[in-house]
Amino acid sequence: TERPPLLDDDEGSILLYSASSSSSGYGYVSIEKQRQRLPVFKYRTAILYLVETHATTIVVGETGSGKTTQIPQFLKEAGWADGGRVIACTQPRRLAVQAVASRVAEEMGVKLGEEVGYTIRFEDLTDRDSTRIKFLTDGVLLREMMEDPLLTKYSVIMVDEAHERSISTDVLLGLLKKIQRRRPELRLIISSATIEAKSMAAFFHTSKKRRGLEGEDCVPKTEPAILSVEGRGFNVQIFYVEEPVSDYIQAAVSTVMSIHDQEPMGDILVFLTGQDDIDAAVRLLTEEAQNNLKSSSGLVVLPLYSGLSRADQDLVFSPIPRGKRKVVISTNIAETSLTLEGVSYVVDSGFSKQRFYNPISDIENLVVAPISKASARQRAGRAGRVRPGKCYRLYSEEYFVKEMSAEGIPEMQRSNLVSCVIQLKALGIDNILGFDWPASPSPEAMIRALEVLYSLGVLDEDAKLTSPAGFQVAEIPLDPMISKMILASNQLGCSEEIITIAAILSIQSIWISVRGQQKDLDEAKLRFAAAEGDHVTFLNVYKGFLRSGKSPKWCNKNFVNYQAMRKVVEIREQLKRTAKRIGIVLKSCESDMQVVRKAVTAGFFANACNLEAFSHNGMYKTIRSSQEVYIHPSSVLFRVNPKWVIYNSLVSTDRQYMRNVISIDPSWLIEAAPHFYQHHHPNSIPH
Ligand code: ADP
Ligand code: MG
Repeated sequence: TERPPLLDDDEGSILLYSASSSSSGYGYVSIEKQRQRLPVFKYRTAILYLVETHATTIVVGETGSGKTTQIPQFLKEAGWADGGRVIACTQPRRLAVQAVASRVAEEMGVKLGEEVGYTIRFEDLTDRDSTRIKFLTDGVLLREMMEDPLLTKYSVIMVDEAHERSISTDVLLGLLKKIQRRRPELRLIISSATIEAKSMAAFFHTSKKRRGLEGEDCVPKTEPAILSVEGRGFNVQIFYVEEPVSDYIQAAVSTVMSIHDQEPMGDILVFLTGQDDIDAAVRLLTEEAQNNLKSSSGLVVLPLYSGLSRADQDLVFSPIPRGKRKVVISTNIAETSLTLEGVSYVVDSGFSKQRFYNPISDIENLVVAPISKASARQRAGRAGRVRPGKCYRLYSEEYFVKEMSAEGIPEMQRSNLVSCVIQLKALGIDNILGFDWPASPSPEAMIRALEVLYSLGVLDEDAKLTSPAGFQVAEIPLDPMISKMILASNQLGCSEEIITIAAILSIQSIWISVRGQQKDLDEAKLRFAAAEGDHVTFLNVYKGFLRSGKSPKWCNKNFVNYQAMRKVVEIREQLKRTAKRIGIVLKSCESDMQVVRKAVTAGFFANACNLEAFSHNGMYKTIRSSQEVYIHPSSVLFRVNPKWVIYNSLVSTDRQYMRNVISIDPSWLIEAAPHFYQHHHPNSIPH
């Protein structure tokens, strides 16, 4: 393979340090040259022709081939954004939206937020008049439909990463298919790394005739076009462990160290599951590198997950000093959504964090679960971008062959559908069971969702949105249970406090978690701990933060994550605006925490649990399905074990743990949801 020249000074083109140069030392390459080297470049004319002539085009191509960053630019160059129209490109992940948008702005030499912008929940970096290419999460595009059901400002909508089959992507595909019937001029591009393109094509190939004759001017063909972009991945050699590993974090760390000791230069990409294990691995590696003098200077270890600040995200893509080796420890965001150049070694734990929902117990939780073969192949492929690479799988070959499932299950079929159902209802889709889904959710899950929404007072007996409560809840861009909590706070006179809580619940964590300093963190938490539980503790932290004058120093001293708190303040401002718009009066209850707890109960009554009478180990049972659950060690109520509690979410490791817990009085449950508790669980609550 040819090596790019060290310095490429095409006249007039923008120069930027290529990400690919970080460890391979390629140096400066003009952006134009970089773009031309991407596999999609050769397909530019074909793509534009297909989009012109077909309502739907499916583009399949290897990760890194340039689909996300190039296709929107091709479309713009071809005039699809003329006349005030906008080209949209959706992503399932927020972090990917930010990263690709800033890359495209850089390639086009424009300021992010003007011609190229992005929108994710609680962050809108677009300009109403000048933005021509807009990256956004599929969830945000769904929300936009509430204001503009036919998405009229978009000329082309590219639904990217379709193979991920996120719940919002699936809902979006179903709705876009409906929109297409009303807007023959709208073009869809569905793109992904791997996809059963045929079944996706079949989904979009409706037999219903539209106005006009196919093939005539402006009337595109209804049958989707499929285009496959030839990748140029290099060979990747796969290694397995002989025996299953018991601690994949430790195993990943040792593997990285031995690659670093024994293998030639090339960056290392490690796939773990989430912030906790990634932070742990980063720390272990940093320590290890310090102890091991030989390697001490050579490694630059960086985390990559969705809770990172923008600056930390950027680090992952920026060049590191020559002669050093970059190690990026990532969630599965680096599997297909983001391409890191320069990676030659992949370490695959074999796990990712996945949502699982059981409609019988009505419990959804986030579980560290085995990935599919398809994912494992994608992960391995990341090692072969710049030259032949190696992938170290921390599981045995036998396990891969015999036990890993071939494909993942669409999120739609393993999620709680409450949010999804309310959104469809708000868009006027009444017959949800008859909705045209790319993958049908289970009827049980659907019925459960309808039941919860009915109990929340969001749907009436005919399963229509109630007025005004249902419409108000749908308007707030949060989980309906949180939105309901905000509505209830209006009547209870504690909207200021509840909006703070809602803002904090919508970010990952407000604490700085450093492995090894768990004790210090616990002590810091005690300074804010409230007997009522985590929600009230959050209010104390927020008050302290304001009193300190929003000081970073104060945050550090108290193990509070400053970036997270700034985000909370920002989200809070936005929620306040939404609240005002839907008629909620902002009011503080001062120190009356009982009303705060009642408001939480009004939203989260379905997550009520009762401490087992003779439990010595803090075992609770959920009221609705008698599941065994425990208070998470990170909760201020851990070991306190009040008799009745409500949780915000469940995480499952060795046990089912409740995260963000508040103590309640059981009589509030019947007050909050008479239907739910009197009909279904008449004997579970003392009257
Ligand atoms: P695909 O969508 O087909 O997976 P992309 O369009 O995301 O491919 O990536 C094309 C190229 O752009 C890759 O070589 C990738 O490394 C580069 N790239 C994408 N995002 C960034 C970024 N934020 N910083 C630097 N390079 C990037
Ligand atoms: Mg992409």
